[in-house]
Formats: sequence, C-alpha cells, structure tokens
Amino acid sequence: MAGILFIISAPSGSGKSTLVSELRKQVSGVDFSISWTTRPPRGSEENGREYNFTTKEEFERMISERKFLEYAQVFGDHYYGTARQSLDDARRLGHDLLLDIDVQGAAQVRASLPEAVSMFVLPPTPKVLRTRLRNRMRAEGNVNEEELHRRLNEARKEIENYRNYSYILINDILDRAVAQLEAIVLSERYYRNAEPIAYRASRVLEVAAGCRLSNSRERLKPVLEAFGIEGGSGQQQLPFGEDLDDD
Ligand code: ADP
Ligand code: 5GP
Repeated sequence: MAGILFIISAPSGSGKSTLVSELRKQVSGVDFSISWTTRPPRGSEENGREYNFTTKEEFERMISERKFLEYAQVFGDHYYGTARQSLDDARRLGHDLLLDIDVQGAAQVRASLPEAVSMFVLPPTPKVLRTRLRNRMRAEGNVNEEELHRRLNEARKEIENYRNYSYILINDILDRAVAQLEAIVLSERYYRNAEPIAYRASRVLEVAAGCRLSNSRERLKPVLEAFGIEGGSGQQQLPFGEDLDDD
C-alpha cells in the first residue's frame, strides 16, 4: 500500500500543532515529519522532537546538498525545511506522512508531488487568533509584542492562499476540528487505498466531503470577511486594530 502525503498549513497560532497532536493520538499509521529549522527552540521544545534545530550555516549546506524536499524562510529570517529523508522513510514503511509546513513550502511540494492532500486551517476570527497567540506566549513565559504583531500581520497574507488547498478546517471548537481532520485522513485512505472505515463510515465520508474547498464557501465567508479578504462579503473589519478588546 502506498502512503499518502498530507500537508497541513495555517497561520501561526491557529491551532495546527494542537490538531496534529490530537490526530496522532487517534489515528495510527501517520508519520509526522520533523522539520529542520534555524529558529531557536521555544518553551519546552526539544531538539529532535518538535524540530531538528540547526544553524544557518548547516541549513545552507543541506540546501546545497539538495537534502530538502522543500524549504522556505518564514517570518523573514529563519529557515524551515522538510528533509527528503522523511518522505523516503515513510514510503519505505508504506506509512502516510504529514507535513506541517507554511504556504510557500506547500506550494513547492504541490508542484513536485501533485498527489499530496493539502489542508488549510483557519482561526475563526482575527481576535481569536490574537488571543491564542498571546496565550501561547504567556504559557511559554515570553509575551513578545513585536513577534505577536509580526505573526498577526503575516496571518492575513497566508490566509489568502486558502484557495490552493484541497480541504479547509476552521478551528473554532477543537473537538469538531479534530473530528474533521480525522475524517479527511480516513476518507482519503478509503478512496485511494480502498481501506475500510471501522466506525460510522458514511458519516466520516460526509464530514470529510463537507471540508473540501469546493464545499466550504458558506463556512469560509464569515472568516474571510473578518480578515478583510476578498471572497467574503467585502465588508472589511480592521483585522488587528484598536477596536479589538485587549485580552
Ligand atoms: P499553531 O501550531 O497553529 O501555531 P497551536 O496549536 O500552538 O498553534 O495553538 C495556539 C494556541 O491556541 C495554543 O495555546 C492552543 O492550546 C490553543 N488552541 C488551539 N486550538 C484551540 C481551540 N480550538 N480552541 C481554543 N484554543 C485552542
Ligand atoms: P513555528 O515557528 O511557529 O513553529 O512555525 C512557523 C511556521 O513555519 C509555521 O507556519 C509552520 O507550519 C512552518 N514550518 C514548520 N516547519 C516547516 C518546514 O519544514 N517547511 C516550511 N516551509 N515551513 C515550515
């Protein structure tokens, strides 16, 4: 059985890591690619667990040796990349592989591996995104307002790429978003590998189908509107302006 390559992207703070860790608890046979990065570890992160942390020099050496399936500079200065080795390992084992990568990396992977299944996670509103980012920074003991602002400004630009993804997840209620992510994985396995779905198959297929980009217009509309992105009704709110209550 050939493994499926899943890509998940989202603006920072949308809850992508939370969703992925829930998925890993509930669905077996999905390997998670540990990216390489030149950014320093955050909070309780450990080398080799969340990321392989490395230096700019080492990363650039790996680029020149064509070690990366994709790589990008995210938020300006730091490199992030997926080693080809991750894909080779998953393929050898016949496992699915999940890449948590940004919109630039996703575009590179789609170009070289068009069969990849891509999923885009959105927060329900800019205000919720700001709260989640700030809470995470608080939990990690480092509320950096400049970094917060930078990530919020990036979010709108990243969200504009939602159109390039096969599936849309709006991470409002966590349990629902986790169930949708799980349904997408199970339904892709069902359609591509004829793998049976153990529990409530028709419901799982229905949930996954509802997340397809083509079926997500109604769910997306208020979110795009709140971020002031074309495709909403055109009524623009200030995404992160003074009108938002402080959290
Ligand atoms: P990302 O990986 O997209 O940067 P995280 O998974 O680290 O985001 O989530 C950012 C913060 O939001 C974390 O503190 C997490 O616990 C919280 N969070 C994630 N999903 C939800 C949700 N559905 N409801 C409330 N809080 C959430
Ligand atoms: P963070 O610093 O919050 O862990 O991640 C910042 C961004 O980098 C996220 O959007 C995340 O998906 C992205 N990212 C993580 N690993 C990779 C990778 O290997 N390649 C690319 N292109 N982006 C990555």
